[in-house]
Formats: sequence, C-alpha cells, structure tokens
Amino acid sequence: MARTNANKGLLIVVSGPSGAGKGTVMRYVFEKCPNMRYSVSVTTRAPREGEKDGVEYFFRSADEFTEMLHNDEFLEHQKVYDNYYGTPRRFVEDLLDKGFDVLLEIDVKGALVVKRRRPDTVMIFLTPPDRGTLEKRLRGRSTETEEQLAVRLDAAIGEMKRASEYDYVVVNKDAGVAAEEIASIIRAEKCSARRNKYFLENLIYGGNSGYDD
Ligand code: 5GP
Repeated sequence: MARTNANKGLLIVVSGPSGAGKGTVMRYVFEKCPNMRYSVSVTTRAPREGEKDGVEYFFRSADEFTEMLHNDEFLEHQKVYDNYYGTPRRFVEDLLDKGFDVLLEIDVKGALVVKRRRPDTVMIFLTPPDRGTLEKRLRGRSTETEEQLAVRLDAAIGEMKRASEYDYVVVNKDAGVAAEEIASIIRAEKCSARRNKYFLENLIYGGNSGYDD
C-alpha cells in the first residue's frame, strides 16, 4: 500500500565508492523492496560481457548522448572515468508516476545534482567499514593494476569526503545488515510527515484518502 503524496514513488539515490560492496547489498535490497525499480542509465561506454542494452544500461554512441543532452533528456549527467553517464529523466518520471520507488545508483557528483534539482530525493551513502576492507575489496578485483588501484582508492576517498552531504550513511560490514538498514530507511521515509502531507490534509478536510488501494 503506497501512502506517498499523490501516490508517487520515492526517488532514492545510493552512492558509494567502488569497494563499498554496492552490488551485493543492492541485490538484497531489491529482494526486500518489491516496489522498487532500478533506473537504467544511458552510457557511452561499451557493454561488458553479459550486459544487455536496456537492462544494465542504455548503451549509446557519443553522438546520440550529445543529442539527448541537447534535448534536455537527462536529470543529471557526468563524465565518470573516460565515459559519459546520464540519468534519463522521462524513464525515471514514468516509473515514479506509476507509484514505483526508483533507485539511482550513480556517482557522488551526479547524486548531488539530483538532490539540488529534486530536494525530496532520499540520499543514502554506502561505505566500507574501514580503510583495510576498502583496499582489500578493491584489490579483490583482479582486473586492476597497481596504478589503476591507486586511482580508484583516491577516487573512493574523494567520494567519502562528500558523504556528509547525504541524508544517511550505511556501513557495509555485513551485506545482509546493510541491506536491512537501507530497506528500513526507505520504509521510514514513506511514513515521514512531510511525505504524507496530502494524505493528512485529505484525512482532515475530506476527499480522496491518498491510499492507492
Ligand atoms: P560502471 O561503468 O562501472 O557501470 O559505472 C561507473 C560509475 O558510473 C559508477 O560509479 C556508477 O555509479 C556511475 N554511474 C552509472 N550510471 C550513472 C549515471 O547515470 N549518472 C552518474 N552521474 N553516474 C553514473
């Protein structure tokens, strides 16, 4: 039962440095939150093995990306490493209008743009429990050379410096616990008084209850 303003879903951002363990945690969160949908970003990077267009990303050429940019089709966009990434505005709005909660898994710079444009966004930052774990997780990716590792570590620390600009910080010591904390944040946000303004007004002054079932 949704109880948000005009039955719209929540816009949720989860960011965290590579090495925070986002992939595993978010898989658990999706199991716990069946009303949540993943926002599929547009990217100019080539698909990795097994990635499908429209599932992990919409894979587009640099020209197509530029065209979308000119048509103002992005809620935010950023250059991350050597590629461009953007959150397709219409895709996200359509899901929110249908009452789904929408998850953006985007980098910190893009996330803070979204927060500025949509202050009602729930901002969650996922961190590793300590520096040692961060380094170990980064090293665990056999694809990285020492040099790439140093770049990723630097980027991770740069991102963590901005964690205090988020609404919530979740520490990933145990993926199951971290996922439960994120699910609890989402549940609590749905009950917040400010998100239930229309519901309360209708309750007091009459009209539609604001519940969708
Ligand atoms: P990857 O290429 O490894 O899938 O993603 C690289 C980085 O780009 C990750 O930090 C990811 O969160 C970020 N990213 C993915 N999609 C978007 C997007 O639409 N906007 C922004 N700002 N970052 C994104």
